Amino acid sequence: MPSLNLQLKDIPDEGLDLTRGIALSDLGLRGEEFTIQAPLDLTVQLLRVGKQARAQGSIYGSVFYECVRCLGKFEHRSNIAFTVLFQESEQDSQQHSNDTSQEVKETVQIERFSMVNGQLELGDMLREQLILMAPMNPLCTPDCLGLCQVCRSNRNVKKCGCQEMGMASPFSTLRQLINTHDSTINKPSL
Ligand SMILES: [Zn+2]
Ligand SMILES: [Zn+2]
Repeated sequence: MPSLNLQLKDIPDEGLDLTRGIALSDLGLRGEEFTIQAPLDLTVQLLRVGKQARAQGSIYGSVFYECVRCLGKFEHRSNIAFTVLFQESEQDSQQHSNDTSQEVKETVQIERFSMVNGQLELGDMLREQLILMAPMNPLCTPDCLGLCQVCRSNRNVKKCGCQEMGMASPFSTLRQLINTHDSTINKPSL
């Protein structure tokens, strides 16, 4: 299997196409942020541009997140496209000071990653893509009912007796008010 850590000089003039599966260990992850059950499909095209390398590709596959409401694991089909420019870290800091005008003009969002001594750490870059694309508040379904505050049972699975004891009254009162209001409006005036 081709390595995810390669050297700039390993990229031939015509570019390098890489297709392989990626596991959590390739990304340096242990399944805390999210987990996967089968390797994700990686396709990436690497191109050497002077002393920089451009990586364009996609990551595709099933990622499992934990729902913030019911804490259940759920599957999400991810399809993440990326375009990244690898450049030497010391060159990076110099360019940032006088290159700002050019950056603003760029229409396509190209991310920059640092290389050290021509070493491209693809695994680090891919990990960042996956973490960036992960939902902030993952939900198994948009209307997940979550866990019962009282008995902690999953309300999507089991209807426990203790639910909505305190919640019901203010809402039903409000609904009654709205209904009363509506009926007065709809009342024929003649
Ligand atoms: Zn849920
Ligand atoms: Zn309950």
